[in-house]
Amino acid sequence: MATINRNYLKLQGSYLFSTIAKKVSAYSAEHPEADIIRLGIGDVTKPLCPAVIDALHKSVDEMGSADSFKGYAPDLGYEFLRNVIAEKDFHDRGCDIAADEIFVSDGAKSDCGAIQEIFGLDNKIAVCDPVYPVYVDSNVMAGRTGEYDKGLQRFKDVVYLPCTRDNGFVPEIPEEVPDLIYLCYPNNPTGAVIKKVELQKWVDFALKNGSIILYDAAYEAFITEGDVPHSIYECEGAKACAIEFRSFSKTAGFTGLRLGYTVIPKELKAGGEELWPLWARRHGTRYNGAPYIVQRAGEAIYTDEGRAQVREQIAGYLENARIISEGLSGAGYEVYGGVNAPYIWMKTPDGMSSWDFFDYLLEKVQIVGTPGSGFGPGGEGYFRLTAFGSRENSLRAIERIQRL
Ligand code: PLP
Repeated sequence: MATINRNYLKLQGSYLFSTIAKKVSAYSAEHPEADIIRLGIGDVTKPLCPAVIDALHKSVDEMGSADSFKGYAPDLGYEFLRNVIAEKDFHDRGCDIAADEIFVSDGAKSDCGAIQEIFGLDNKIAVCDPVYPVYVDSNVMAGRTGEYDKGLQRFKDVVYLPCTRDNGFVPEIPEEVPDLIYLCYPNNPTGAVIKKVELQKWVDFALKNGSIILYDAAYEAFITEGDVPHSIYECEGAKACAIEFRSFSKTAGFTGLRLGYTVIPKELKAGGEELWPLWARRHGTRYNGAPYIVQRAGEAIYTDEGRAQVREQIAGYLENARIISEGLSGAGYEVYGGVNAPYIWMKTPDGMSSWDFFDYLLEKVQIVGTPGSGFGPGGEGYFRLTAFGSRENSLRAIERIQRL
């Protein structure tokens, strides 16, 4: 008789976005004339830039001709893409990452979720609270956590690292030593960043204890300030203790195209065993590569033209973030993030719960955001707004909030 992986039963329902959708559609049904502004979405809205579209057209034509047709991509990704990534994302920033330490994939979510497979089930994970839920849930599915404690709203046998306004949403080093440490900067949902000296402390801690840092840099392209590392490999010794995930989704609007990559340095070991061959084996066994045309599209964002176009898009989103966060601060709200990230993390007023504030904004000014408590108990009392909408809607939303 077939049985199921019972770890899946430990997962908590992902009610956040479905509850938001239900509440919004109920409100629209009652108020069909309502002009709702959605600042909750975590998806980009700007179209792909011309350099990417040109590369797509060109590579689609190649696929239609017998002499340039491409079938399966090489396991680690095409060299033309891995070489340009190594040069522009790492060498240009002084990081010594080789092209064959880069594994091209269909995005950071798949890789952040799958990376735990190459580690033992007895590893203890540490995650930030609040957190992007993929890190926890993928470990729950694998059986690396205990049961869910409804009272604490946390899984047992997981080290939770509180990220609060007091610590600038950068966690303190815990007393209990975890084996796998998930860090994400610039952060979703708080929009916070980690300074290089702070990240170096985590690298030193991991090196001292034989832990591995799983560093999600999906929002790296939004960094505007100088002392913020773009890669964990800017820290000394990180190649011996860290894996890094990158994504083309928010950098260049590839959420629908799908492209990302993971860096596993050759020297990286866990318990004396090299990790690179394990991930190479996993990649080769379970994955057949990002499409040729998408890898060509990815290559295009590294040309001078592509880079300028992508930077302009990001500048547009960051301008929305500025409009939203300055507008909220001007209206007396306590606001974080939005400078090096597309996320604005605001404190709810008058001690309101995250969901009460959601209802309040929807009813009073027809604005939709994301309740912070949906990202973990540490997000209670906070609310996330995103800068991925249009400039016009960002301005209109702020005008409405200022009228409250
Ligand atoms: N990592 C973080 C922190 C994210 O917020 C997201 C998407 O929202 C991802 C990874 C997923 O990236 P991708 O689209 O490359 O799978």
